[in-house]
This record gives sequence, C-alpha cells and structure tokens, in this order.
Amino acid sequence: MSRTQYTIGIDVGGTRTRVGLCDAEGSLIAQRKLRTLPEPEAMLPQIVGAIQECLGEQGVSWDDLVGIGLSVAGTVHVGTERVGKAPNLPQWEGFAPGEALQALLRDQGVRDDLPVVVDNDANAAAWGIARWEAPQLENLVYVTISTGIGGGIVIGRKLYHGGGGSAAEVGHMILKPGGPRCPCGKLGCWEALASGTAIAREGRARLGDPQITTPQVFQLAHEGNREAQKILDEVAEYLGLGFANLTELLDPETIFLGGGVMNEWEQLQTPALASYGRNARWRVPIRSTRLGDEVGLLGAAALVGDRD
Ligand SMILES: [Zn+2]
Repeated sequence: MSRTQYTIGIDVGGTRTRVGLCDAEGSLIAQRKLRTLPEPEAMLPQIVGAIQECLGEQGVSWDDLVGIGLSVAGTVHVGTERVGKAPNLPQWEGFAPGEALQALLRDQGVRDDLPVVVDNDANAAAWGIARWEAPQLENLVYVTISTGIGGGIVIGRKLYHGGGGSAAEVGHMILKPGGPRCPCGKLGCWEALASGTAIAREGRARLGDPQITTPQVFQLAHEGNREAQKILDEVAEYLGLGFANLTELLDPETIFLGGGVMNEWEQLQTPALASYGRNARWRVPIRSTRLGDEVGLLGAAALVGDRD
C-alpha cells in the first residue's frame, strides 16, 4: 500500500512564523501562525507544537512525513546550514535551526531520522514556484517586494546559491550610487529605492505627514495626489531598471513577483513595465506568482525535494 507523502514547511520571518502541512500535490492542508521569538531556542518547541496541531487536525502521523523544510529571513550558509546575516533575526545569526530541530525531535522521542532542510526564505519561495507553479521552466527569477526586496534564482532547475549561500540578494544591487541609505549600510540599493519602506520614507518626506504608511501613499496616488503619484512613478522606474538588469544578467524565462507591495501592483505595473521596456534590450514575461501569500510556506515545504 502506498502512503501519501507529506512535508512540513516552516517560514520564519522577522515578526511572524508560519508552519504548514503540505501534501504530495503541493497543497497546504493545515497551517498555523506564530509570533517569531527573538531567541531561536525558545521558538523551536513552539514550532514543534504547531506541527503537532497541523498533523492532529488532518490525522497524519509523524511517520507519514518525508521531511521538514525551514526557511528563514536571512542568508543561510551552504553546507553548514547555519544562519548568516539576518538583520531582522539577530539572535538567529550563527544558529543551525535544522540540526537543533532534529535534535529536539529526537529528544522528544518523536522521530530519529527526519530530514530538515534549511534555506533563505526568498530562495525557498523561488524553488516553490519552480516546483509547484512552473514545472516546465528551466530558469526563473523570483523577486519579493515588501519591507525589503529579496530574490531567488533557479538555473537549470537548480536553486543557485553561489559560493557561500548569499547569492540572489537582488535587493542590494546598487541602482543609484550615493542614493538613500539601505538597512544593509550601503547607499542606493534597489531595496532603498523601490521597497515598501522606500515608498513610506519618501511619503513621510514629501507628503507633509510624518506618520504616513505605504498603503496610504498608494491611496493618495489613487485619489489623484500628484506628489504621491510622482513617488510611485519613481519607484516604478527603479523596479523596471532592476528587472532589466536581472534580464541582462540571467535571461530568465520568466520573472515572478511576490510580497506585500504586489497587492498594489496594478498601480505600479504600467510605469514599471514601461521602465523595463526602456532599460532592457529584450523582455521576458514578468508576473505575480499564482502561489500568492502561500509562496513562502509552500517554498519552505518544497525544500524537501530535489533542489540542488
Ligand atoms: Zn542594501
């Protein structure tokens, strides 16, 4: 008798951690949301509890799991699977969450041998798209635009990690030398010019409201505020420029987009694609991922499988 193969996806973000149970077809059949705790050692038992709840809800046992994929909002070293730079999870830097989770499951007598695969969150999302949404594509790029800008690169149906695991940090390509300061410390990174944070920063500086949020800038632009529209046009210009650089560098078959700012993509799409057209010598399709808000969790679950 063949058993259904289930995987667990864990997506550890700066503020929230999501845990999901995924079936063999790439559907999330149960999920839980947790607040991310600053200390990883305190977080792991809560994660195990959330897995237990998901399994219980669907009547799936630990023995039915083929593995756990864990993605984290930071770089992950190839080989050691230790977290590297993680500005939003500083206490996770240097931590090896896969090893620690395996040890915890062993200590609790749950499973001795359950594989746990760890990767950066945007890399995982890119692999989730390759596996579940675009199994026909060999080469693709995923760009997530939210508080920051992140990315993942699939080449020849393998995730591209670079030499140490820090590849695809597309948000830190400098697109405007001497431009606004990025949280990474450099000036003029793509993330400092075209993320949700950049939109709010420009809004605060130029719209006379020191409290204004990114959605409010979109709303003002929608209502016809000229300065708000100008801010979004500038952001769109840089989005198109970044897509053009990725196209020139990698010639992907498609660039997939995700992240919170994509909820407002309708307002950015026309000027961003116009900028792309001006700045790229050839164009590839650019579209939102159909995995939507689940791309992070499905990506984490997809790590259990052939990715490199
Ligand atoms: Zn940067």
